[in-house]
Amino acid sequence: MANPHQEMWTGALAHVRNNYPALCRGWFDGLEPMPIDNGVFRVRASSAIHRNYLQSQCLDAFADAMQAVTGRLMPVRFMSDEDESNFPGQTARAPSARATPKLDFDNPAVLPGRGSTHKPIERADQPASAAGRNAGSDVVVPKQPRVSGLMPKPNPIRTLRDDTGQLFNPDYTFETFIPGPENQLAFSAAQAVAESPAAVYNPLFIHGGVGLGKTHLLQAICIRVLETRPDTIIHYISCEGFINRFMDAVKAGTMPSFRHSFRDVDLLIVDDIHFLAKMDRSQEEFFHTFNSLYQMRRQIVLSSDAKPDQIPHLEERLISRFKQGLVAEVETPCFETRLEIVRTKVGMRGIKMDEDVCVAIARHTSSSVRELEGVILTLDARAQAMKTKLTEEMVIEFLGLPKSAARPLISIQRIIDAVTEHFGCKTHELQSKRKFRSIVYPRQVAMYLARHHTRYSLKEIGGHFGGRDHSTVIYALETIEQRVKDTPSCQADIEQLTRVLLQNPHKSSSGGQ
Ligand code: ADP
Ligand code: MG
Repeated sequence: MANPHQEMWTGALAHVRNNYPALCRGWFDGLEPMPIDNGVFRVRASSAIHRNYLQSQCLDAFADAMQAVTGRLMPVRFMSDEDESNFPGQTARAPSARATPKLDFDNPAVLPGRGSTHKPIERADQPASAAGRNAGSDVVVPKQPRVSGLMPKPNPIRTLRDDTGQLFNPDYTFETFIPGPENQLAFSAAQAVAESPAAVYNPLFIHGGVGLGKTHLLQAICIRVLETRPDTIIHYISCEGFINRFMDAVKAGTMPSFRHSFRDVDLLIVDDIHFLAKMDRSQEEFFHTFNSLYQMRRQIVLSSDAKPDQIPHLEERLISRFKQGLVAEVETPCFETRLEIVRTKVGMRGIKMDEDVCVAIARHTSSSVRELEGVILTLDARAQAMKTKLTEEMVIEFLGLPKSAARPLISIQRIIDAVTEHFGCKTHELQSKRKFRSIVYPRQVAMYLARHHTRYSLKEIGGHFGGRDHSTVIYALETIEQRVKDTPSCQADIEQLTRVLLQNPHKSSSGGQ
């Protein structure tokens, strides 16, 4: 029987897509409505990380959507399988009781029960220790034994200590990270560390400018480890969080539990470690934390805006420790990587954007990926508000560039060079009247590109390709337009050639430049 709530949910989803496009993600399609419970519309997400994103970012939008669809107030609650399996028979718990519990590090009763007998991460899969560790790390575990039916089952997300107050971003996975020559080492190393913590690079130190993907990679490690080794105890924290927690612990006289919370973990990830600079006592504490973890063969991952030896006021002994594993840089991505990132971000958010607009954004936004994303979102919001399709000219105008920055004028010769190189044919063949299949398609592609990237008339274009009349050119354009829609290989040819032409509008393959 069809889910009776599906219709309501479909309406709500459409409302959110129309009214809150910046919140939407492709994976919203996989959300599953559940029966209404005590007046609450419940929706199942595929993981706790997705649920957390929805609960923290999207609750108001969906409540608004539900009201729009049903005409009445209807609270929405997002859940994941973990919620359900943790509370068998209690699917109707009140919202406050369901919130992810806050871990209390200063109450040893709720910390993982691990002492000197702690097993290294490679052995963390053993059932007995896994159950103990998960239960112990969870603040909902009472000191007295519970009625067995209500005992929480291991829940991966609760092994996570995220002191930043930020939740993990489900967008920050390895799958959505675009590798390129500028970040390949960091990307591969992060994957290797997630695959085999404490076995390959320890510590892994990722550095680079702002908005270049450091936090993305750090969170991708956490998300992958949570998926593949749910028993792993991860402590993910910003450096500022570490410093604040340290100072609070000093003031409150709770250093033992502070140390316990940082040193009794499998994986410690500290984002923006350069903030340790000048913080003498915090540096000292971090030094000991580092040593303790390192000696016990636990994985440490750090990010920074500079190389270890270029972080001002960092003690020599920390510099040398940070350098003893792998130091990998993320640099500003090149055009090719930027274009791939634009395509990915656009796809993830379900935005429809023509290739030439993606190319224009990638061409003209070259500082950081964060800026690139900002441009995509703002332009999309503008296009939606104006109920118009985004064009390259809008990109140029939005970025405050002169009109001359718009698509460069490309010569027919440049197009011929690119097409002959791409298809491995000869210039004289393109310009001949020969009708071999092998040359007709490249010639039609060349005409199509000439029409889109030059100001020549149909007749002039025909003149460059064997003196063909304008109806032959129209036929070529229509043929390619159709094939772009129907044939992925043709679409790929056009995309690749467009990219080559826009990236290098004046290059001459005959050695001219
Ligand atoms: P940083 O921590 O280096 O300042 P972030 O990790 O916060 O930068 O990245 C900023 C934004 O850019 C994020 O939305 C992230 O997803 C995106 N980003 C950066 N590099 C890439 C990449 N190579 N592929 C996909 N997205 C990226
Ligand atoms: Mg960051």
